[in-house]
Amino acid sequence: MRRIHRQLCFLASLVLVIDAGPIEQPADDYGIATNYLESFYNLRYILAPVAPGGEGKRPEENPLPEKLKEMQKFFGLNVTGTLDIETLEVMKKPRCGVPDVAEYSVFDDIPKWQTNNLTYRIENYTPDMPVREVDDSIKRALQVWADVTPLRFTRIYNGTADIMISFATQDHGDAYPFDGPGRTLAHAFAPSPGIGGDAHFDDDEFFTLRSSRGNFFASYILFLVAAHEFGHSLGLFHSNVRGALMFPTYDFTDPDRFSLHSDDITGIQSMYPPVQTTTRAVQTTTRACNFNLILDAVTTFRGETMFFKDSIFWHRSPSRSVSKLLIKSFWPNAPDNIDAAYEDPVQDKVFFFKGRQVWAFNGNNVEPGYPKTLRSFGLPPSVKKVSAAVHDKNSGKTLLFFDIYYYSYDEKMKKMDKGYPKRLKVGFPGVTAGITAAHLFNGNIYLFSGTKVYEFSSSRNLLRVLNNNYFLPC
Ligand SMILES: [Zn+2]
Ligand SMILES: [Zn+2]
Repeated sequence: MRRIHRQLCFLASLVLVIDAGPIEQPADDYGIATNYLESFYNLRYILAPVAPGGEGKRPEENPLPEKLKEMQKFFGLNVTGTLDIETLEVMKKPRCGVPDVAEYSVFDDIPKWQTNNLTYRIENYTPDMPVREVDDSIKRALQVWADVTPLRFTRIYNGTADIMISFATQDHGDAYPFDGPGRTLAHAFAPSPGIGGDAHFDDDEFFTLRSSRGNFFASYILFLVAAHEFGHSLGLFHSNVRGALMFPTYDFTDPDRFSLHSDDITGIQSMYPPVQTTTRAVQTTTRACNFNLILDAVTTFRGETMFFKDSIFWHRSPSRSVSKLLIKSFWPNAPDNIDAAYEDPVQDKVFFFKGRQVWAFNGNNVEPGYPKTLRSFGLPPSVKKVSAAVHDKNSGKTLLFFDIYYYSYDEKMKKMDKGYPKRLKVGFPGVTAGITAAHLFNGNIYLFSGTKVYEFSSSRNLLRVLNNNYFLPC
């Protein structure tokens, strides 16, 4: 019995790549890599005929290094073409079962649904969670996409839905059997009739609502896994942007603080653009590089810079690519035509000002208790609006501009600094008119006034006066 058992285990270890424990032999590493690249990078060996008495099948040429490079490039690793520890570590991470590269070149047209009204059906349940928690996780995961598109999802209980949702293990009726605990968590199919849109979850995993089971058992938050899979159900491929929901590996995020990455939003809105109502004129006529454009507000946001005007904003990535979105498509609870904005990266919050009100957001979600009034910042009632705001993470101070004055707010102490307000021309000599937006970039402070931008050093010396399209070139 024992011998049979050992043989079975041996077979299992050949077929499955189990995400557990340290790798003891280099041969296993090679097995993991081959299996991974076959599954997710379309690695195919062309086998030479078996010579009688020979050692076995050998590939005619070794496509592994090229495929390794492809994978390393996707994940932003050092592109070496060799199986280094860093690469192996990524390969051992739990992830989505949909390939990262296959199909890209196969379809000219990206498959998408031709209707905005889609149905879903939960065919069965995992024993890991109560039914209502599964229902809730699935509903919220679909809502993530509904929030930023015109797509609407209706649950049905019988018949065939566009998105059929099921939990299954191992071989489960499609061409992609699951792999036991670890590694592949789920997969989903791109929009099309039949299996298209369907999402399957590997029930050899342990799924949870929000908490983790501790160190000994891996567990995965169903909402996060499902939100990713439904991205595929709607037609998205994997993103190579770390932090994006459509990144292939699973990363724990507090589901209560979850927000869609701008990369996901840009992707899904390119397929299902938000319905424009009164904002249509602004959408089509407002250009980022217009010399006469007077911005409402500028802020950093998780490594990007956001420029606000009326109901839209442009976001500029560190690589300087610029794209335009509706404010409401990213922050559904935010007002249009904001007066000022700033980010406090320590609290991971972004603040919007409009009139006497201020909103705080963590990701896309408004913080409990907001909007609050300007008095919550300790501003006197005579301040009816804040025209610009900028936060300096080095000093922990936020400067709030109003008319020809400015205040300094201490984020740590949660109160206004003494000696304020100061006159603008005292603190920032050279600025002659009121300002509409302020921005800290590479240690310099930029004050937007009319169609000009004043560049100040950290010691408040005026360095340059720039055109207002300096950050948003044509
Ligand atoms: Zn995926
Ligand atoms: Zn499946």
